[in-house]
Amino acid sequence: MCRHLAYLGPPLSLAALLYDPPHALARQSWAPVDMRGGGTVNADGFGVGWYPADGGPVRYRRDVPLWADATLPALAAATVSGAVLAAVRSATVGMPVVETAAAPFVEGRWLFSHNGVVRGWPDSVVPLARGLPTRDLLTLDAPTDSALLWALVRHRLRAGAAPAAAVGDTVRAVGELAPDSRLNLLLTDGRTAVATARGHALSTRTDGRSVLIASEPLDDDPAWKPVPADHLVVATADDLRIEPIEGTSAA
Ligand code: GLN
Repeated sequence: MCRHLAYLGPPLSLAALLYDPPHALARQSWAPVDMRGGGTVNADGFGVGWYPADGGPVRYRRDVPLWADATLPALAAATVSGAVLAAVRSATVGMPVVETAAAPFVEGRWLFSHNGVVRGWPDSVVPLARGLPTRDLLTLDAPTDSALLWALVRHRLRAGAAPAAAVGDTVRAVGELAPDSRLNLLLTDGRTAVATARGHALSTRTDGRSVLIASEPLDDDPAWKPVPADHLVVATADDLRIEPIEGTSAA
């Protein structure tokens, strides 16, 4: 069921997230330890997005397993950024294995990822899709639940919602129509990151100047803390807030 992570803090190499730690994202792609809801490996594509010093984000994604990309190790070792979002994908049964279905999804400053599944897809969420501009529906990245979730979050961001509200409201709205969905969402603009834990594992690690949010801890540092179920994380490099998802509709 996909794994994802976000980092905000002093610049580091992408390799420090994707390859170097004992349980780096590359390892989580073939040996995840906490795959709830099915799936054994995350082999159906991957993506990484990062913010160069003067803008971005830049996104690199493919429809092959992370471990099968022979170019990425050198690229990751040579690329340094203070804000990164990366994901490996285990496609839900019935959803296509194509590059455009791999997170991160991107628009403007935003990068987005979803770890989970929308139950009853697609019928359960037709009423929500009807609330989107037709143009957005015709230009979804891929015919997947994750791409629709991104369209729903993006629609709220465009309307001026705060990132935590855009993500929290989307999780609530989808949860009402499609109970038991697994909705771990992850959103960043390079300065703030918002993540939800609903149906899947999520952990955070902070040291006062950097924050890591990840499906699974990258190492055995005792500073990793699990996020309680049905909670939302709002983080900057030097601040971390965790609140119940029910409490995030107003902002
Ligand atoms: N349902 C999404 C997809 O197929 C995410 C999959 C996952 O989390 N395993 O793309």
